[in-house]
Amino acid sequence: MNKIRDDFTKETKRILQERVGNRCTNPECRCLTSGPNYEPEKATRIGVAAHITAAAEGGPRFNSSLSNEKRKSISNGIWLCQNCAKLIDNDEKIYTTNMLLEWKQVSEENCRRELEGKPPIEYPQKEGWICYWCRSFVEHMQPVCAACHAEVAYTATRKERGEAWSTGLFVGGGGSLLFFVLLPQILNAQFDWALPIGFGLGIYALIISAIIAVICGVVSIEHKEKQYRGQPPRFFRNTII
Ligand SMILES: [Zn+2]
Ligand SMILES: [Zn+2]
Repeated sequence: MNKIRDDFTKETKRILQERVGNRCTNPECRCLTSGPNYEPEKATRIGVAAHITAAAEGGPRFNSSLSNEKRKSISNGIWLCQNCAKLIDNDEKIYTTNMLLEWKQVSEENCRRELEGKPPIEYPQKEGWICYWCRSFVEHMQPVCAACHAEVAYTATRKERGEAWSTGLFVGGGGSLLFFVLLPQILNAQFDWALPIGFGLGIYALIISAIIAVICGVVSIEHKEKQYRGQPPRFFRNTII
């Protein structure tokens, strides 16, 4: 069987490697991923651009809700040594998507700190994330960054949910009203029938439309939430979530 694999481009791999200073991203490994070869013209490389969620269906941590573009984007990649790459793909229950995203954040942050001559942040620590704005550590599920008061959104924000709800109501309610109002008229004109508006359901047509509107609202919120599941949280400043 020919599976579709969403592989990274050469450029994506190189940037992943450089963002962690050519070391394995696992904060407890951090080994070098290249060095000199016996042949003076060659280098020995043991680094791998691994997928956080698998490149193809059936692979570890595969996330069917990601688009092919997202699956091969840099946000789904992690630079590892060959040992750690094997490790994470052999045990997806221990090495979860969240854990790998944390590794990436911590190691990239420590690489930045090293460039700036600052001491590294420690790992392992409590499960958490790096604040987008002030780069301090925020414990997992903490709603606000203690250092800069940025609000942390782990799924859709209240505003996004509200918008999704309205869109769903509008599409579901509007669509079913059109169905009950327009469709009888179109059929009547087409076939010379005499169907009443609402197909004779009267007030029930309104009730059915309302129920369909609510269902579409709920589905629309669920769809929105799904976009942010399995992703690092987003940090908002000066906004009410
Ligand atoms: Zn490693
Ligand atoms: Zn902050």
